[in-house]
Amino acid sequence: MRPAPLLLPRPEGLYCPMGDFFVDPVRPVDRALITHGHADHARSGHAHVMATDDTLAIMALRYGEDFAGATQTAVLGERMEIGGVGVTFHPAGHVLGSAQIAVEQAGTRIVVSGDYKRQADPTCLPFEPIACDIFITEATFGLPVFRHPPAEEEVARLLKSVRQFPERAHLVGAYALGKAQRMIRLLRDAGYEEPIYIHGALAKLCDFYQQKGIDLGPLEPATVDRANKEGFAGAIVVGPPSAFADRWARRFPDPVSAFASGWMRIRQRAKQRGVELPLIVSDHSDWDELTATIHETGAGEVWVTHGREEALVRWCEIEGIKARPLHLVGYEDEGD
Ligand SMILES: [Zn+2]
Repeated sequence: MRPAPLLLPRPEGLYCPMGDFFVDPVRPVDRALITHGHADHARSGHAHVMATDDTLAIMALRYGEDFAGATQTAVLGERMEIGGVGVTFHPAGHVLGSAQIAVEQAGTRIVVSGDYKRQADPTCLPFEPIACDIFITEATFGLPVFRHPPAEEEVARLLKSVRQFPERAHLVGAYALGKAQRMIRLLRDAGYEEPIYIHGALAKLCDFYQQKGIDLGPLEPATVDRANKEGFAGAIVVGPPSAFADRWARRFPDPVSAFASGWMRIRQRAKQRGVELPLIVSDHSDWDELTATIHETGAGEVWVTHGREEALVRWCEIEGIKARPLHLVGYEDEGD
């Protein structure tokens, strides 16, 4: 009889039969290990959740304190045992609290990277390459066309536009968890000291980041009434992408619509969304980061999930690395 695999895909998500746990399950389960707080990875309703302190706090902020039956903190770098399986969380460089999860048994180590990036991000710990036998990688931007420029260059373009159009408000679409705080922090690092106006949907998460010692500078609520509409001339307003499609966005004076996302590499996407100033800033790895990371882990086998699975699988095969697509469903990252 062949031994049961250490991890296998199930409709609920990646499952470890020996430890009887799931990683980032998309349906409520008994025991869930969660890589990070984005809604497609971190869902409410599990009986037991293990995650980093920051991810647990983010889940409580988003879903309420009763988001799980019970919770357990995973300390980065500290090995734990679940049913004879070793489990260790390591930084993933994706958003605050994000982790890769290394699962180990009988000398075999599989690393579930969750979502990750290699570009520097002043709002979270950098990705740590972990040597492993099997590396499970995302492939959101798993095509050679996706190459993200340094985020600092994109922020410099935004500030140039702000200087160029002092009478217009700049509306920056950025996902509520991670991207928004990273954009704000990058603006501060670039020397922008004015108050930054934020949509109400970002308030709790921005507060949380500030509490964690990530200085976002002066933030003001982006509430407008007609009387102070002109007060937003020359201002930078950050909000979730969904807010820019509704009436909220039309309250600002002659707004410049900007959007910070890896998808902004594709001109057509920017056009379709009516984005005047596309900013290519992503919390996911681009093609070069994906392929470099696979080599760095030294993995002899790669499993590819959510995104452009086939291209990365093909690349692995050409490189002589065994690879397969996982075809997991339910992951539509809210933080691209
Ligand atoms: Zn994510």
